Amino acid sequence: MLSRLIYHSENHLGAVGGKMIADLNKIMDASNKNNERDGITGALIFDTLWFVQILEGDREKISATLRRLMADNRHDAVTIVDCREITERRFGNWWMGLAMLRGNTDEIYARHGIGPRLDPRKLTGEQVVAVALELAQGGLNRRLAEAA
Ligand code: FAD
Repeated sequence: MLSRLIYHSENHLGAVGGKMIADLNKIMDASNKNNERDGITGALIFDTLWFVQILEGDREKISATLRRLMADNRHDAVTIVDCREITERRFGNWWMGLAMLRGNTDEIYARHGIGPRLDPRKLTGEQVVAVALELAQGGLNRRLAEAA
């Protein structure tokens, strides 16, 4: 059953810098490896306070991923935003794409009625998907590689 899970959590990676980027790269490496194996696609949005993640795929695989995630001390307070069956993937090209919430994101937030600072506790699942798609389109996902 094709499903989509969206959650937010508190980021425990610390201040933006070399170690944070290295930690994030480790998370992305493990995510891409496992998600490709499990047929999970999606996006991970983050800033210094928050992670917001979209996971699309078989619901058993998503649940297994969620169980691993919940035991990971690099974040905390995992909170489900939305979970539903879907008919098609929106992030079919990304095992786990990364959209960084910094830099020139104000306009994107404003278009989605968010801001000035992201607070995922106030977002619906559809808003998360719309913002992630737009951040991805803008190429913000490439900044991590450039910054590393
Ligand atoms: P391993 O091969 O055991 O580890 C992968 C790498 O991560 C290793 O370098 C290991 O040292 C390091 N690592 C693992 N756990 C920790 C830790 N607690 N602290 C520091 N370093 C650690 N996993 C997915 O499979 N799919 C996802 O979409 C996904 N999204 C994530 C989103 C967030 C916000 C976070 C924090 C983690 C996410 N993870 C995801 C990672 C997940 O929590 C597990 O760490 C991972 O799934 C373990 O996979 P593995 O057993 O193959 O990793």
